[in-house]
Order: sequence, then C-alpha cells, then structure tokens
Amino acid sequence: MKKPMHPEPTLPELSDEEILRYNRHISLKDFDFSGQESLKSSRVLIIGAGGLGCASSQYLACAGVGVITLVDDDQVELSNLQRQVLHTDQDIGRFKVESAGESLQLLNPHIDVRTVNQRLPDEKLAGLIQAHDVVIDASDNLDTRNQINQQCFLHKIPLISGAAIRMEGFLSVFTYQENEPCYQCFSHLFGSHAPTCAENGVLSPVVGIIGSMQALEAIKVLANYGRPLNNKVLLFDAFKMAWREMKLPQNPLCPVCSSID
Ligand SMILES: [Zn+2]
Repeated sequence: MKKPMHPEPTLPELSDEEILRYNRHISLKDFDFSGQESLKSSRVLIIGAGGLGCASSQYLACAGVGVITLVDDDQVELSNLQRQVLHTDQDIGRFKVESAGESLQLLNPHIDVRTVNQRLPDEKLAGLIQAHDVVIDASDNLDTRNQINQQCFLHKIPLISGAAIRMEGFLSVFTYQENEPCYQCFSHLFGSHAPTCAENGVLSPVVGIIGSMQALEAIKVLANYGRPLNNKVLLFDAFKMAWREMKLPQNPLCPVCSSID
C-alpha cells in the first residue's frame, strides 16, 4: 500500500494501524488517503444522543472522525432501548451522553469522544458550534432544531438535519451559501406543532436509516466527497418503502436566512 507522493501538508498522517483499519475507505475511488485524513482532522458536533444520535455517531466513530462531541441532557430510560442502540439495560438512569460516549470509544479507540450533559443556551451553543466542522441535528423538538439552525446559519457551519417518527423520515443538508434555504425555511411549512415519538411512536429501524444517512452526508461534506443533499429535502415513507426528493426553496420571509428586514 503506497502513500500518495504529496499528501496535504495540513492534514494529519494516518498511523500504520489506521491505514489498515480504514483500508476500505482508502480503497474508494477518489476518497483515498486524503479523504481519510480529512475525517481524522474533523470535528463533528451531534446534538441529541437518542435514536438519530446513536445511529449517526456510531458510523462517524467507526469511520474515523477525529473528534465527536455529543450533547444531550437526558438520561437513559427503558423505553429508549428499542431504538437507541448505544445504550443497554445497565445504562438506565445514566446520562445518555456518558453511556453513548463509552460505547463509541469502544467502537474506535483512535478517536476523541467528548460529552456535554446539558441543554445549552444560545451563547454556549454558538461557541460549541464554532469549534466544530459539521453539526448533526439529532434532537427531538422544534425549539432546539430552530435554535441549532439559527446558530449554524450565523456561523456558517454546515448542518445535517434529520428526523424520524412513526414510519416516516426526513433528511436535508444546509450549508448556508447565498440564496440557499435554511432549516427554518422548511420547518415553517408545518407550523409550530411538531409531533413527537412519545406521542406517535416510531419503528426502530426508521431512526437507524435516517441516522446512518446523516452520518453519510456528514462524511461527504467533511471529505468533500460526492454531492451532498444541499437545497433539497429527502422524505422517506417506510410503510410503502418509498423515497421522495423535493427541492427546497428559500423562504423570502424566513426570519433566519432572508436578507429582507
Ligand atoms: Zn431560512
């Protein structure tokens, strides 16, 4: 296995063990060493250590993202275990970020897993967002989703947004370039009441599918590989096993991203 002649000087080199570990990435056409080194130098902030957070973080950890920070103030409950795959019966009552963080570190000892077991006010969230390269919204309520979007928009940090409920899923990527929509351009379409999994239920693999796709889109953005889902919304109907892609226009009256006062 040969290293490229001129590796990017700013990217960290992979150890021999890491080269073996990530061989199936490095073998990917155009991903190569530079793609893996990009992941190693990347920091991903995951807000929510529930179903989406567990699914997305385990793939990002195994994939070799250098720093993963998990934020969640909840504790593990018995009713979480049906879909939140990083927690076990022994973790009931513990902070989700502690339990998930330990599982991630076991999956990949080469990465740095950090945890925050509180709900953050704007200022603290902004500081954390700016210290990361990509944010994954794995939260479970509209207020938090809008708060994350607002801070990501202000600091131009890409946001990988996902949601899963009942037999339905949603996925989108926001990179906040000029004239691009933001999450709130989408969320205003369904008003202030977002249904919750506690009220409506969710079939376990639906969160796994959407969470895995959030990890996939994050890796694409971080390694500049493939075409991310910018300006589009992907809707998943698990009942019919059907996917629908919609173009998402910017809302000219959006309180977050519109330039009109
Ligand atoms: Zn907007």
